[in-house]
Order: sequence, then C-alpha cells, then structure tokens
Amino acid sequence: GRSAVTAEGETVCPFCSVGCRVTLHLVDDRVVWAEGADGPANHGRLCVKGRFGFAYLRHEERLTTPLIRRADAPKDPSHGLRGAEVLSLFRPASWEEALAHAAEGFARLRDHHGPSALGVLGSAKGSNEDAYLLQKLARLGFGTPHIDHCTRLCASVPPLTEATGFAAVTAPIEEIAHSDVVLMVGSNPDMNHPVAASFLKGALRRSTKLILMDPHAQSLSRFASHHLPLAPGSDVALLSAMTRLVIAEGLYNKAFVAQRLEGFEALRARVEPFTLDVAARCSGLAPEVIAEAARLFAGARAAMTFWGMGASQHAFGADNIRAVIALALVCGQVGRPGAGLHPLRGQNNVQGSCDAGLLPNYLPGYRSLESAAERAAFDEMWDGHVPSAAGLTVVEMLDAARRGTIRGLYVVGGNPAMANPDLAATRAALASLDHLVVQDIFPTETTAFADVILPAAALAEREGTVTNTDRMVQRVKPALAPPGVARPDWLIVRDLAVRLGLPWEDVTVKTLFDEMASVVPALAGFKWSRLVRDSHARYPLDSADLGRNSLFADGFARGPRALIAPLDGPGADEMPDADYPFILMTGRLREHWHTGAMTRRAPVLEALSHEPRAHLHPDDLARLGIATGDTVEVRTRRGMVHLAARPDPAVRPGVVWMAMSFFEAAANELTINRLDPTTRVPEFKFCAAAVERC
Ligand code: SF4
Repeated sequence: GRSAVTAEGETVCPFCSVGCRVTLHLVDDRVVWAEGADGPANHGRLCVKGRFGFAYLRHEERLTTPLIRRADAPKDPSHGLRGAEVLSLFRPASWEEALAHAAEGFARLRDHHGPSALGVLGSAKGSNEDAYLLQKLARLGFGTPHIDHCTRLCASVPPLTEATGFAAVTAPIEEIAHSDVVLMVGSNPDMNHPVAASFLKGALRRSTKLILMDPHAQSLSRFASHHLPLAPGSDVALLSAMTRLVIAEGLYNKAFVAQRLEGFEALRARVEPFTLDVAARCSGLAPEVIAEAARLFAGARAAMTFWGMGASQHAFGADNIRAVIALALVCGQVGRPGAGLHPLRGQNNVQGSCDAGLLPNYLPGYRSLESAAERAAFDEMWDGHVPSAAGLTVVEMLDAARRGTIRGLYVVGGNPAMANPDLAATRAALASLDHLVVQDIFPTETTAFADVILPAAALAEREGTVTNTDRMVQRVKPALAPPGVARPDWLIVRDLAVRLGLPWEDVTVKTLFDEMASVVPALAGFKWSRLVRDSHARYPLDSADLGRNSLFADGFARGPRALIAPLDGPGADEMPDADYPFILMTGRLREHWHTGAMTRRAPVLEALSHEPRAHLHPDDLARLGIATGDTVEVRTRRGMVHLAARPDPAVRPGVVWMAMSFFEAAANELTINRLDPTTRVPEFKFCAAAVERC
C-alpha cells in the first residue's frame, strides 16, 4: 500500500526517446510503483512500460559483481544462452582483478595486432557522459577508429543531416499542437512512443489531420484521415509520385523553394518517372488516394513530418527518408510553428550518444574525422592522437570479427547476440573473438561469449544527463543504489582507461558534461551547473536561454545539397519466391522494449505479453490450414524459429510480422545482413520467409 512507501526518487524513463520523467516510489529499496512526473516531455503521462517496466531494477538476475570466464567454459555459438545459463560459465572476481584482466587483453591485442584489431560497441541507453568517455577511450586508449553504437541499427537522421546540415529534429513533438496536418511515415508511435502518440491523438481529436503511410493497419490508422497501406518497399515510388504531383500542379511552396532550397530542378527530373500510375502499381494504392493525400499535405498551413524505423530499417532506408524529406521541403513544411521534420528516435539517449561522438565517422559534435584541422584540435585538447580514418559500424565490426581482422571487442550496454541481423553468423563472430569484455546490467545473450563481464548501474541508479528525441537535455540523479558492487558505466570506462595508461583519475560526471558541452556546437551555453539548477533544457539555447523549438525559420544551416536520390522502385535485396513466399517484417510491441533484456524481467509487462507470436493475415492462415495458437515454423535462408501463430487483420496478406524481443524465437535468427549504403543500417523489415504448421 502507498502508506508503506519509505522513499521516492525521480528519474527519466530508460526505454524510448520521448524521455518521460518518472517518480519511483520505493519500499525497502524496491520500486513498488511508478508515476509520471511533470517532465518537459510527458507532463505527468507515462505508457505501460514507464508505469510497470521498472521492476527490472531489482530482478534476481541483475549482475552484482564482476565475472571472469572459467577456463573450462567453451564458447558455443550454436544457440543463444542467457541468465543463469550464462552465469554458470563464470566465476566472481573483484573489480581489481576483472579490470586488470580486461585491460591486459585489450593491450595485448593492440600491441600484437595493431589498434584496428580492437572494436568498441556502445549503447544509446547510456548517458551522455558514458558515451563521451567511451568514444574517447576507443580513440585514445585503444587507438581504434572502430567505435559505434546501437543507433546504427535504426539510424534515421543521416539523410536529415544531408539536407539540413543539422543532426537533430527541426521541431519537437509538442509542435503537433500547431499543425493542421501530420505526415507519419513508417512509424507506429502507439507501440513505440506511446506518450508521443497520446499528444498526437489529442491534436487529431481537435482538427489536425493525419496522413499515415504504413503497410499495416496499425492502431493509429483509425485516427487517420488518410491511411495509405502501401506495399512493403514502395515508399520511394509513393513519395516521389506525391512530390511529382505537387510540383506538376503548382502546389509546392514557390517562395520557399526559390529562397531556401538547392537541387529543385534535379529533384523535379528525378521524380518525373513516378506518375500516379507507376506509384499505384508499386504501392497497390488507388491513384486518386495518392493524389488526395499529396494535395492535403501540400495545402497544409503547417505540417509536421515524422518518420521511424519502418522507413529507415531497410537496405534502401536512406532513400526512403530522402523521399520523405524532399516532399516536406518542396512544400516548405519546416521552420514555422507546427511545421518541422522529426525522425522519431528509438532508444532513450540516441540523440545524446550521437552528439557525444559515439560514431565511427564523426568526432563529438559531428566534427568531421576527415578534417585534419578538426582532428588536430581534438589531438591538442585530449593530448593524444585521434585515428584519422572512419571506422566500421555495428554490423561491419561483427563481420570483421568473423574474418579475424577484429580480435578484441568491448561491448558496453549493447546486445548484438539478439539485436543484430542473422544471429547464427553474429554468434559465430562473437565466439571467434580472442577477447570480449561485456558491460551490462543483466547476463544477456551477448555476455555468453564474454571473457569478462562488468556489472553496470542502471539509469535510475546513477547521475548524468540524457537527451531525448526533442533535443531536450535532462539531468538524472540516483533514485536508488546499484545492486552489489555494480558501478555507473562512465566510472568503469574511466577505471579501465587508467589501467591502459590514460591519466583520467579525476574525471567526474560534471567534468565530462562540461567538456562535451564545450565541443558540441549545439550545446553552446550549457553547463553542468545549469542542469543542476534547472534539471533540463532544450538545445540550441535561444537568446533567453529557453531553447528553440522550431529550427530553420531563417533558412538552413547549409542548403540541401542532394534532396533526393531514390531508387527506381522497390529496392529489396531478397524478394519472395516459391520456396520463401512471405515477406518477413520485424518490429516491437507496446509492452516490450527491443531485445527484452529489461521489460521481459518486469513481471507485469511479461504477464501482458509473454510469448512470441507470428502475426499473419487471417486469409493466409486459412489458406495454410493454420489455426490460432498452432505452432508454426518460420524459416528463412538464415535460420528457423518455432512460435505460435496469431491471426492479425492489421498485417498485410503475404507478410509475416514478428516482434524482436523474444529470445525463445528470436526474430533476428531470420533477418538478412544487408546494409543501407549510406546509413549502414541493416534490413530488418524485408526478407523472404516460409511459414508452415509444425
Ligand atoms: Fe518511457 Fe517512452 Fe513510455 Fe515515456 S513513452 S514512459 S519514455 S517508454
């Protein structure tokens, strides 16, 4: 009961990028309930994950002490292990012994095989300070260019940066309140950003109209004035036809195009082949529906444009997003109240982790690795030597491990043995490493291949800052203590760095944040002391230090250089055929977050959704003679899983949809290792699959 509460603390939700503030109510150091605090992004609201997801903090499988692999414990890549199965392979160790063992392994490989034999995988779930120090350790301590993090599995910003020169949303979610039209492409916020969806639904109940581009009849489709259930892979054709129409009918924003945009004529030529008939053939939509949606969007007084992983998680994801941005810019839908471009980010600190330079191609603040002057500035500031070449990305590092060119890997908060495509190949890569150190809060599938496991504190147990999808930097304070001797990530990274000879003994959260703010242009004016005083602030700060909602009112940071470079039609790598007649699409559920490491250890969420299911259209199930709940085998050229069939009229015929969160039938056993050439994001939403009753 509430009378038994002995303490309470405030934190920021660790799941999605909305960044809801949460009050945790504690009894005997356990979270007994959570409620929405009056944060800048949620104003008291929470979704089911924020409400019931915090039970993971005191789950019995939390890592509480450093662990070293037993000499007689083989690394078996044949199947995934987790939890107690993993712990049986290790023996407890002191911090001193574990850090020494971790550091010695990295130093040995670096000295014998060169710095490029090492890789570092971070996480968008850590704090800004974690991310900043980790990339610095990779570049200075390891000397490797191979540093990346899990945002690579969903990156939806690079095409926006191409167009605007700015690597963050131009307008926050709350601008919906000033929009008369919202365009949503490949995003399901009701599942993945539910509090953002609640604000959207509020606007839709008033007078805002929603154009929803999604192959599935997701729950928001009943709120949409125009739901365009396009065929998977036809985004470019559809969006290009809409752009062609607004140009041909003179509905585009001529003043905006004349004064602000470069590349308009090239765009006009590029979209010319995409007539309504072509788009209709590719997408399966009626030409008049496409035209109506285009005219509605072009005629909006102010329109917000959102996109998500349905657009980005493809081998042609960058083209999808370029096509979205092109339509919005031609219509001048940016830079005014209610008009803006917003890639809905995935994890809670995607924005901050990228700002901090946890990327293989950018130094902190998106400063170019190709610039000798930028590198020299960092060399001087850091008293070291920044590698000059861009490094490998998340999936590429595992590919390099399989080839034997990467031999040591430091994984901080990531779980590639569940999150990467083609898990059999990923497990083989992890098992082949000479030295793997994994830092996490649970014995994940990836820790099964570790030589050393370092126990980390969860976000609610530590101090730092995180940056949400709206460019809002929020300070977090410890609401409770970490279990056992677990420590914050930045502290573990610092102590490892000291053992590698870096003089970082005096580094603190404050010094890290202030150093990061001093090198990230968007954080100009930010100080740790300011966040201690105000708890949050949106960047960039305006003249009154309030943070600017709407960017590019005065023009772009630089003119869009290449507005659009679309493929000529669907660009999927592996099309359905006689042997594999279905399209496999993966995604997330409202109750579970990504690989499920946290939410599947929260009893209420697990009770709400406790088993993997293959979602298929009822007509497909009837045709295959499969009843609800029958066990089916879903098979691709990479692997197979067994799980229960679920009829789902929202799923398109010919598609099998699976959530990525269930280790019992891991969707990524099936997915294909094909990367977008620009973003290097894997194809998670289109490969050929077979479905049979077992
Ligand atoms: Fe957490 Fe996102 Fe839900 Fe808010 S909307 S409570 S940040 S998962």
